[in-house]
Amino acid sequence: MLKLYNTLSRKIEEVPQKDHINLYTCGPTVYNYAHIGNLRSYIMADLLYRTLKYDGYKPKWVMNITDIDDKTIKGAITKFGNKATVENLREFTQFYLDEFLKDLSEVNVVSSEDYQIYQPGQALDFSKKLIFIRVTDVIKETQDFIVELINKGYAYKADDGSTYFSIEKYQKGFDDYGALVGEKFIEGKKVGARVAVDEYEKDNLSDFALWKAWDEASDAQIFWDHSTLGKGRPGWHIECSVINKIGFNGEPTDIHTGGVDLIFPHHTNEIAQSQALFGKGNFVHHWFHSEHLLVDGKKMSKSAGNFYVLKDLKPINSYHLDKYQPYALRYLFLQAHYRVQQNFTQKSLDASHNGLLGLIVSAHKDGVISDLRLVGLDNDLNSPLAISENKPSEILEALIGISVKSMIDPNRLVSDDELSADIKSLKKERETAKNQKDFKKSDELRKQIEDLGYEVMDTPEGQKVKKKLQI
Ligand SMILES: [Zn+2]
Repeated sequence: MLKLYNTLSRKIEEVPQKDHINLYTCGPTVYNYAHIGNLRSYIMADLLYRTLKYDGYKPKWVMNITDIDDKTIKGAITKFGNKATVENLREFTQFYLDEFLKDLSEVNVVSSEDYQIYQPGQALDFSKKLIFIRVTDVIKETQDFIVELINKGYAYKADDGSTYFSIEKYQKGFDDYGALVGEKFIEGKKVGARVAVDEYEKDNLSDFALWKAWDEASDAQIFWDHSTLGKGRPGWHIECSVINKIGFNGEPTDIHTGGVDLIFPHHTNEIAQSQALFGKGNFVHHWFHSEHLLVDGKKMSKSAGNFYVLKDLKPINSYHLDKYQPYALRYLFLQAHYRVQQNFTQKSLDASHNGLLGLIVSAHKDGVISDLRLVGLDNDLNSPLAISENKPSEILEALIGISVKSMIDPNRLVSDDELSADIKSLKKERETAKNQKDFKKSDELRKQIEDLGYEVMDTPEGQKVKKKLQI
């Protein structure tokens, strides 16, 4: 039985076993590359997914892709000019969506064969690990959701042409706005003001935009038309209420994940919108939030010069590093509990890289494990404990997602007959260098062989060549 901390109740609670678990993760805004702090929260969501599977639950995992908001529109206009259209916006966001998917695959969250990107009218395929839903693919469902909120009296169209969610009306029926932040969140705050931008601070508690009226100066030609709502586009928060509903076919969400920075306003507003339509307690049972990642002891920001995306990480000058570096990042993240702030430094990544190589060497010696038994994860995903208590091969398989079986494949050994002429001649040259005790040359030749995709080992019977480790 998995026990998890629930941000809403502020308690560690059991996740009940049932037919399946609806698992939702707030996805990226695809206007830029994901930074490593974002990746940490997706790796933690993946650790949760893997632990659920390991414990015999059947998770259905859905993630939204924010491809329409203030930032994506701005990006599309910068690229395509002030006549930019919805098609231009799609082209602009597609690039960053593709990059995001590559990043997720690099850190073993989801491989390219194991996800579905929902297309309108298509059935959701839960034989895949993860289903992505783009907001611009569910505009009609979003409009319907907003109209229902208007019909029930929780939303209203204002003078500026935008449609807002009424916190005052919501409070009359539910009296729990902001409960995710804290019990007394709303106390002493004035309600009734309005905010049109997607991101805002706690002090500015306001009715937020569900449908933002089109403004040619800031939106170019990016808008959708609707008989009740008028020309415009969705505000940021409504999308996740809509996509939870579509993804789980109207069933409540069992676990909803995201970074702590999403607790307010995003998740707070999701709860209000969804409960307004489905009733109290019928939206999300369990809120899972991972903490911030600091870089060099500070909050990551472009102006502070400590903003890293995956491709910025400095390569470590070490043996077959290209493949291992994203895994080293994943391993580094798992060495801290998800509810603790972690401080990233280049030094900590280097140490994690070396630690990972050590695990791989030990796992080679252990051989394949027939029955994976993990300690630590069931207790609120205690990954540091799992790393200290389990065997190297178990850590690699269950936490990092590296298949130990594929690493110790005996087929990697290559006989002399199968070697190409290049490698045969390098091997021969190296034999000569070794006999002459020219170790510098022998090392250089080893490196050349490695660059061709092979490893050379010195054994009592002479040099043996293996295919380089592929994981
Ligand atoms: Zn969300």
